[in-house]
Amino acid sequence: MRHESVPIYWRNIPHYYRLVARRCKKCGAVYFPPVVRCRCGSRELENVELPHEGRLIEYTVLHQVGTDFLKQKPLIIGLVELSNGVRVTGQIVDAQPDKLTPGTKMEVVFRRVIVDGRHGLVMYGYKFRPVGGI
Ligand SMILES: [Zn+2]
Repeated sequence: MRHESVPIYWRNIPHYYRLVARRCKKCGAVYFPPVVRCRCGSRELENVELPHEGRLIEYTVLHQVGTDFLKQKPLIIGLVELSNGVRVTGQIVDAQPDKLTPGTKMEVVFRRVIVDGRHGLVMYGYKFRPVGGI
């Protein structure tokens, strides 16, 4: 990463604190992660912010994780249906895997995902946690 990219990162920070999807202006389909072309063929998509709460559909627990995630072992990955019906996959934090069940109320939180020690950069991204903790 070149030095001049640091200000660009800081300028983009608000982006990391929102869940932004793309919605087709023609048929209304919502995509997360965002896409450039809708399945209806339209390329006219607009940004929409997704709700920050939903329910757990299913989850899986990873015991073998990459070195970047060793401190978070085991890693819980869940599929959450947000309150507007959009389904999003993400890491689940602040939860004990054996206490999670489909239907558990979840909320979006923004947590550190990467620390780049060489450049002092800290990247944030969305994760899910059970509402009220379990
Ligand atoms: Zn469409």
